[in-house]
Amino acid sequence: NNITFTMIKPDAVADGHIGAILNKISEAGFRISAMKLTQLTVDDAKKFYEIHSERPFYGELVTFMSSGPIVAAVLEKENAVADFRTLIGATNPAEAEEGTIRKMFARSVGENAVHGSDSDENALIEARFHFSGREIF
Ligand code: ATP
Repeated sequence: NNITFTMIKPDAVADGHIGAILNKISEAGFRISAMKLTQLTVDDAKKFYEIHSERPFYGELVTFMSSGPIVAAVLEKENAVADFRTLIGATNPAEAEEGTIRKMFARSVGENAVHGSDSDENALIEARFHFSGREIF
């Protein structure tokens, strides 16, 4: 079995979508192996999104991701990374498939409701960034 890492981003938490998003995740067959409500500091967000530091939206992304509480979680399922990215849909909700989490709950391309890891390697790095060993079950 395989894992991915997700965050329910500040927009979706503020809009009251935690329950609905977790329900979609459960219905899609993911097991929650770690989860917490937390808030990223500006430094946390800078570190987490370091790979995007040269992108024009980096500052906006760091400000947004540290602007309010998020839900961080580790999800387990066969083919977790790819299947979760299918479940969340395209980065821009305007381009996301009907029924995907971003289509249903995102505000915009920047405030797009959820994060999903893009590789098995990054899933592990991101899970360890947010959780200690004894918080992952
Ligand atoms: P994530 O890594 O959050 O799962 P992704 O892989 O779909 O998203 P990336 O291209 O890696 O998308 O961008 C990372 C995040 O940066 C996006 O989820 C979004 O919040 C933000 N972002 C991407 N493109 C833009 C943009 N054009 N304007 C503002 N923010 C953006």
